[in-house]
Amino acid sequence: MGSVTPKVSLLDTTLREGEQTPGVYFDVHIKVAIADLLNEIGLDIIEAGHPAVTDEIQHAVEEIAGRNLHARVGAHARSLKADVDLALECGVQFLGIFYCVAEERLTHHSKGLTQAVEQISQVISYAKALKPDLVVRYTPEDAVRSSFENVIFAASEAAHAGADVISIADTTGFMIPGTKHNLYDYVSRLKDELAKRSLSPRIAVHCHNDRGLALANALDGYRAGAEIIDASVMGLGERAGIVDLAILLAVLVNDFNARDDLRLNKLPELYHLVSKYSGLPIPVNFPVIGENAFTHCAGVHTQAALKNPLHYQSLDPSIVGRKSKIALDHMSGLSAVRYSLDQIGEENTDRAFALRILEKVKEVGQRGRTVDLTELKYIVRYLSEQS
Ligand SMILES: [Zn+2]
Repeated sequence: MGSVTPKVSLLDTTLREGEQTPGVYFDVHIKVAIADLLNEIGLDIIEAGHPAVTDEIQHAVEEIAGRNLHARVGAHARSLKADVDLALECGVQFLGIFYCVAEERLTHHSKGLTQAVEQISQVISYAKALKPDLVVRYTPEDAVRSSFENVIFAASEAAHAGADVISIADTTGFMIPGTKHNLYDYVSRLKDELAKRSLSPRIAVHCHNDRGLALANALDGYRAGAEIIDASVMGLGERAGIVDLAILLAVLVNDFNARDDLRLNKLPELYHLVSKYSGLPIPVNFPVIGENAFTHCAGVHTQAALKNPLHYQSLDPSIVGRKSKIALDHMSGLSAVRYSLDQIGEENTDRAFALRILEKVKEVGQRGRTVDLTELKYIVRYLSEQS
């Protein structure tokens, strides 16, 4: 599959957007552990938080920024010098400044577009003057529902003021691939307009999942030349959240050959950490990471998958350091039972015996449980003693 962008940068915002999930908050030591794992996986940018929110978040951002990670550590800031000061005191190398330029919001804030854009530009110049090697991103929040002219004007002025990245935020998960509101056309048009003005900031896409299309939209943006994609662990974030990190990385690596330097086998550890301390379970059918993501169940599936896993699997589980599994329940067939008996080292290969075990497995399965290999040993012992 052809990819427009040779190397896409990946931004994780579990610690900023992710904490906007109601009830989710990570202690500083957990935040540090999450940041370390993201760094090990090879994320390019880690958004560590919005320091103006609380003193403890400020402290966490400072701790993470001070760890000399390979990833750039970033902070979120309103378009205010005070927020910039606070972020720079934390020692961040990346700063995301947001300001919505939709007419309705400007009216609400009693600001004209020119006045708003002046404020944005001043804050960006201020940040760049204080720290010239700081990477500054400007986000016109809810960009895709704002007037395109306003976004272009704000983005151009922000780039003139020194913004390195313009982030196209689909703040409400509004875009739909294949319709007139699609991110492919949006990013293409934005890049063209900026190029006409001899501006070439990197384009980031921040896609919310309100319609379940965050990943599809992010890939649409990527195909149109977006250079940075935002994601979070378990897609955590406001409302339905954003692009899920693990699924995004699996697709970019496996299907787009977009990166060959990521350690995806660290993803399960990261997900279990975030799940545990967010208090949110990973759904069993969650792609790539969920317990059942590579588990074959139905008789015909397991029979075919045992011959060749690709019969019922388009993604190799080893990409994230996992293995295919066979589940034993009411859907199982003889081949799954025989395979599992082999797994536990059972020497009795008699067909009649395997059929009796299958019958028992189906009985248990009908009560809504699966038989794992430990329970299978108990079943084998029980039935062996009976015969
Ligand atoms: Zn967001």
